[in-house]
Amino acid sequence: MLSTASPIWRPFTQMKTAVPPLMVRSANGIYLELEDGRRIMDCISSWWVNIHGHAQPDIARAIYEQALNLEQVIFAGFTHEPAELLADRLVKKLPGNIEKVFYSDNGSTAVEVALKMSYQYWRNHGIETRNRFIAFDGGYHGDTLGAMSVGKGAKFWKTFNNILCPVDLVDYPETFDGDVNVAQTEENSLHALRKLLERDSESYAAICIEPLVQGAGGMRMCRPQFLRALINLARSFDVLVIYDEVMTGFGRTGDWFAAIKSGTQPDIICISKGITGGFLPLAVTAASERIFQAFYDDDQSKALFHGHSYTANPVACAAALKSLDLLEIAGEPFRVLEEKHRLYANVLDGMAKLAKKRFCGTIAAFDLKTSEGNNYFDAVGLRIRQSLLEKGFLIRPLGNTVYLMPPYCITDGELEAAYKAIAKTVQELDA
Ligand SMILES: *Cc1c(COP(=O)(O)O)cnc(C)c1O
Repeated sequence: MLSTASPIWRPFTQMKTAVPPLMVRSANGIYLELEDGRRIMDCISSWWVNIHGHAQPDIARAIYEQALNLEQVIFAGFTHEPAELLADRLVKKLPGNIEKVFYSDNGSTAVEVALKMSYQYWRNHGIETRNRFIAFDGGYHGDTLGAMSVGKGAKFWKTFNNILCPVDLVDYPETFDGDVNVAQTEENSLHALRKLLERDSESYAAICIEPLVQGAGGMRMCRPQFLRALINLARSFDVLVIYDEVMTGFGRTGDWFAAIKSGTQPDIICISKGITGGFLPLAVTAASERIFQAFYDDDQSKALFHGHSYTANPVACAAALKSLDLLEIAGEPFRVLEEKHRLYANVLDGMAKLAKKRFCGTIAAFDLKTSEGNNYFDAVGLRIRQSLLEKGFLIRPLGNTVYLMPPYCITDGELEAAYKAIAKTVQELDA
């Protein structure tokens, strides 16, 4: 058992008021096994990273074998097969214009690299005016300073406002099943974007967006046609586009990447969460040939000055290769989950408390209607989380948004059970 005297300082946690964390002894498939003997169904893929279920034995073996052979090596002046193979395979899955892979080790850093890349791109072309970024309200891009800057619409970062880089925000055109205003919402966002660009497009290095789904901002979803219009607009003003696919990558939206699903070609794509199947930290900032060429020069000062101790760690790359194998062998299981979500979500129909039911590939979300303010939203979320935990389900609402983002190995019976538990919990809120 954990003592209250644990020296651990936890992430995003007010240590004084937090309830003690649950001790996990082991995990298998979609279930966490707790020290006290309880089994909890992990319906959110352990914060969106796990895609094949826990402790998947083929990935575990690939990690073991790679570690026996080559555990880590400096990635400047040296390379290794797992990094080379993985880069080749990723480039084939990404949009056709994306040809280069830059490795790092977490989602925030993948975004940080993308921001530096797009900023330096213009400087390498001798353009010094492009010092700003455009991002979307409600966006979340990670916890480092650059990522917080483009994520300033997430409202976690007020404390740090004075040290963020300059960013202008546009509304994210969120939509849901049965939304009759979606065309207008999209037009409003595009109009705001066009106004910023018309005012001074030469002050912007790049536009950064979570394509199709904003994760931490509340599983807010937009349509593929919005992304197509966004890319066209950015192209016409010659501003770069960064897709933060840290959450949406590796099948989450029902295709390999949101860029593929929407048929769009951004200049830079950030990926991380699902890349190793949820075993080890690894990230990639992938770029088009156009971006790469701006750095490719006899002049040393035009190189991309970024790199980390564990860049392209061979063990993490081996896990990622095995994870890709598994997705291919299983016939891209992420493609069928949306249909199943829609089927089992029917138990929620007619519940007056629910609104904005929405689905994108493996992700399903809905909001709880309430007339109160934000604190009440959080209180409802906490009650739902506790109540579902007591029923054996790990589901963590974001404010008043309840969502499911399970590992792809979830069975029909398990998914149905999760929806029934949610329905029961929502009914109990009224009692
Ligand atoms: C989680 C997340 C990040 C940050 O990734 P970390 O690995 O937690 O640093 C960035 N962008 C998006 C869209 C995310 O969901």
